[in-house]
Amino acid sequence: MSARRTESQQRIIKLLKQLKREISAQELFVELRKRKQPLGLATVYRSLKTLAVQGLVKTRTLASGESLYSLIDTTNHRLTCLQCGESIALEDCPACDMEADVPQSLHFKVYYHTFELFGLCCSCQEQISTEA
Ligand SMILES: [Zn+2]
Ligand SMILES: [Zn+2]
Repeated sequence: MSARRTESQQRIIKLLKQLKREISAQELFVELRKRKQPLGLATVYRSLKTLAVQGLVKTRTLASGESLYSLIDTTNHRLTCLQCGESIALEDCPACDMEADVPQSLHFKVYYHTFELFGLCCSCQEQISTEA
């Protein structure tokens, strides 16, 4: 299915490519304004949803409930610190192999996966042990 992309969707993809990082819909809205390519916030949300269903954009929801969006080709293997929110990229991921192993019988088209481990980063561990 190669759906025709609307002008707003194209703007969002272009911006995500330039930014090369995860961004919230709200931030995206602000960035588009800065670049003099404003879109309404509702349009930003709607376009992101469509792009996600088409397998171009992925979403990650933070513990705070906020959703971050990025293009699918950016890696999503990480260690996330619960204290400071720092996110460290991981090279290896067991889910990469699993993606190929999804049973054919399920007829599920896999677009991407995320692999995230939660805990405390080095500096937060030190901070917490000195506080105690
Ligand atoms: Zn930390
Ligand atoms: Zn993986």
